[in-house]
Amino acid sequence: ATPTSIMVGTGRAAEFGVLFRKGESLQVLSSVSLIAFDKTGTLTEGRPRLTDLVTLGLAEADALRLAASVEQMSEHPIARAIVEAAQARGLALAKALRFAALPGLGAEAEVDGVMVTIGADRALAARGLDLSGFADQAQAMAAEGRTPIYLAVDGRLVALLAVSDPVRPEAKQAVAALRQAGLKLAMITGDNRVTADAIARRLGINHVVAEVLPSGKRDAVRALKAGGESVAFVGDGINDAPALSEADVGIAVGTGTDVAIESADVVLVAGNPLGIARALTISRATLANIR
Ligand code: ADP
Ligand code: MG
Repeated sequence: ATPTSIMVGTGRAAEFGVLFRKGESLQVLSSVSLIAFDKTGTLTEGRPRLTDLVTLGLAEADALRLAASVEQMSEHPIARAIVEAAQARGLALAKALRFAALPGLGAEAEVDGVMVTIGADRALAARGLDLSGFADQAQAMAAEGRTPIYLAVDGRLVALLAVSDPVRPEAKQAVAALRQAGLKLAMITGDNRVTADAIARRLGINHVVAEVLPSGKRDAVRALKAGGESVAFVGDGINDAPALSEADVGIAVGTGTDVAIESADVVLVAGNPLGIARALTISRATLANIR
């Protein structure tokens, strides 16, 4: 690769909002065989909204107030959705004590003298709760691409909530363009298996790794590499940083967190996934001219 052609290539990619932090990355991207995407905030907008609330022996407003009182301490996008829903209903939040984030799972705190736990089915099942009372409803929500969230008070299941995060408008087209370019596609997410499958099917991605913690995202990238793939990983969050570092090319969504951007080789300035397809075309053209 001549330095001049690399400079021209990275310059053209920049016009499409794709910043290569080093020239080598353009070269590596041209030979990638598989692109793995984080879901939340990468293929979706990362702005979930509360869509469902079903309670057991508790008024809806009381359940939402307890949930939001815990979530006001969390920076997770799901937490923000729950706090916004409570505020929209004019609920006054209580003070949360001894808050603990359960990374990739949920959150917990003491509110009004009771212990409130909120999060994924795995988080509550691990605390010994029986979630079967909500099984059918949760399954139906997840099958539509919504994320079910469970709420427990003092170890008793009291509510099922769901949030929905719209798919980015350009995501489907971007995935189609990358497949057209001959790449294999995968999704690697901390979200629910059924929810992840529903979104992946909508986009045309058939390899899905779901319900993984941040270290699990890195392990999934490592496994793909061990299987002989040259892997690009696209992600936006703190929880994507290990996978971004592990990938042959780490691509951060520029609207995401600083930690993700620092761990990446390439930055999608406006977060538009179509930029990846354009950058791939440019990288291949650049390398073809050199050979
Ligand atoms: P992703 O890979 O989709 O960015 P995360 O690893 O951040 O997901 O979270 C995985 C799952 O953990 C979420 O889908 C949700 O079920 C649960 N979760 C994490 N944090 C919270 C929270 N603050 N409140 C409720 N649920 C949470
Ligand atoms: Mg994300």
